Amino acid sequence: MPSGSDSSVYFGSATSNHDRSTRACGWVRVLLLSVTLSLTCAAADRSQNSLPPATPDPRIAAALREVSSARIQANITALVGFGTRSTLSAQDQASIAAGRGIGAAREWIKRQFERYSRDCGGCLEVKSDTFTQAPAERVSQPTNLTNVYAVLKGTDPAMAQRIVLVTGHYDSRNSDNFDIVHDAPGANDDASGVAVSVECARVLSKLKFPATIIFLAVAGEEQGLYGSEHFARMARAQNWNIEAVLNNDIVGGNKSPEQDPSVVRVFSEGLPSASNERQLERMRALGGENDSPSRQVARYIAQTASSYDTGVKPLLIFRLDRYLRGGDHSSFNAQGYAAVRFTEYREDFQRQHQSVRTEGGVEYGDLPKFVDFDYVARVARLNAATLAALAAAPAPPTHVVILASKLENDSTLQWDASPAAGGYEILWRATSSPDWEHAQEVGGGTRVTLPLSKDNVIFAVRALDRQGHRSLPVVPEPMH
Ligand SMILES: [Zn+2]
Repeated sequence: MPSGSDSSVYFGSATSNHDRSTRACGWVRVLLLSVTLSLTCAAADRSQNSLPPATPDPRIAAALREVSSARIQANITALVGFGTRSTLSAQDQASIAAGRGIGAAREWIKRQFERYSRDCGGCLEVKSDTFTQAPAERVSQPTNLTNVYAVLKGTDPAMAQRIVLVTGHYDSRNSDNFDIVHDAPGANDDASGVAVSVECARVLSKLKFPATIIFLAVAGEEQGLYGSEHFARMARAQNWNIEAVLNNDIVGGNKSPEQDPSVVRVFSEGLPSASNERQLERMRALGGENDSPSRQVARYIAQTASSYDTGVKPLLIFRLDRYLRGGDHSSFNAQGYAAVRFTEYREDFQRQHQSVRTEGGVEYGDLPKFVDFDYVARVARLNAATLAALAAAPAPPTHVVILASKLENDSTLQWDASPAAGGYEILWRATSSPDWEHAQEVGGGTRVTLPLSKDNVIFAVRALDRQGHRSLPVVPEPMH
């Protein structure tokens, strides 16, 4: 039996009618085990294929309204104004002073973060992390690369160890990787992603969260993801607890006629690239290939989009990235972190990695005039909502297991308590369903038995707080 049944009253006020009816169905199943009622509920449940929206946090909703497409336009224009941001371009003092090259861009990003920090009484810790990249296929000589980031430290000493992170790459390139002379505006790829990170820092630094948010801009993406690789390795070496990475790369919503400006794609890996042999063996036996931590982040983004007014709908793509392409999220995946990539619905390849020119009447080049700044603002809202919802939520439960020591048709889950959690919710879905279909609150206990066969569904457990913030769900491991 589920413990803590008083929680259904406790959380009732922050729950929609839809939630309540779904939960009522769940409780009927749990408490009465009535075949007839179960079937009725199952039929009602089939009308939905994802969870109902959660009640939005008014503080977060207000912050999203602060996201400004005018500010985003100004920031993308400023970044393009440095001429080229090739990782191989100038970064000496004279070039920085002249406002040309990647060094000048880097100093500009740092100044934005510092300005926002002044506006919030020093709430952001602004950092530059420089390292030397050794020569490689697309790096002709030892080159200094700098990641720039701002840390909005969590207000709760224990919860501040938890980190959510948003990133974009501030380097750009033109047709020839080694051409550091001609302009490489990179308005969409990826000034748009940097503008998302910077605008999230501006609007979220006005709020306080128990967990930590990092706003990052990396270099060296176009040469081989070097900046993000360095950052992710550093985070792993220092055992940072990064719960989610949101990588924004090409989120400019180029204005080609086939574009859908109401949709942003969210790419997430299936088999975690950091899986060990034991985990792969379990996935071969029991499934789980559609339940990587990155995919839970993607689903969390979809649910956040249904709760907050962002103006853009995430289209979840269940693959690491597009054909022939890669991105900074995979650097984090390689280190075992959950990370996803946001990219506009339809890309215009005449604008990417192309020197600015007109050829046969066709205009090439990644110029600001092809970027839809309102679209970038919508994507920034979805990012900010996701970061804020996660940073406000309790930590996900740990050591989540499903008992599998004997053959039975009920399912028993147990987990370790999450600090600051007011209760827990069990999620489940059909094995063939892309997203969670059912949620049932189970109170503040850490063990529950449900009259559902674990052979037929996929379960997860998530933590809730008293305001209704929800953690990322955790899929149980079998315990024999
Ligand atoms: Zn890019």
